[in-house]
Amino acid sequence: MVAVGPALVYSMMQASMSLVLVRYYCPACGYPGLAWPAYARLGRPPWYHPGPPPYDRWYGDPSYQVCPCCGFEPGNDDDAWSGAVLPLSFEQYLRMWVRSGGAWLDESLKPGGWILAQQLRDAGIMLDPNAYNPGKCRD
Ligand SMILES: [Zn+2]
Repeated sequence: MVAVGPALVYSMMQASMSLVLVRYYCPACGYPGLAWPAYARLGRPPWYHPGPPPYDRWYGDPSYQVCPCCGFEPGNDDDAWSGAVLPLSFEQYLRMWVRSGGAWLDESLKPGGWILAQQLRDAGIMLDPNAYNPGKCRD
């Protein structure tokens, strides 16, 4: 067995930490593959949203980046600036998407064996189990 000094342990920790990928999660469905943060100050999940939409007042500028999974668009789906839609909370959007069948906006990015319930759990998103049928969303 090779003795490992504190300096080496520290450098190994640094090396392994640098391998951790920065993930940006969709605040509606928990999809972890967004290219940028959905909002400037959203941070990492789990989230405890301080109030109702629009969320830019809590989290800063929205990215307007459409989620390839659920199609949520930060700054649009949670805001009524256009006057054409009602501002939706993340949970309201998620429920509507699930009720409409939960189809991916971009099926080409859908991982094999993807399960919505797992994605939600990984992002710390709670959804009332009575609000949808998890089996329906399995692929
Ligand atoms: Zn999403």
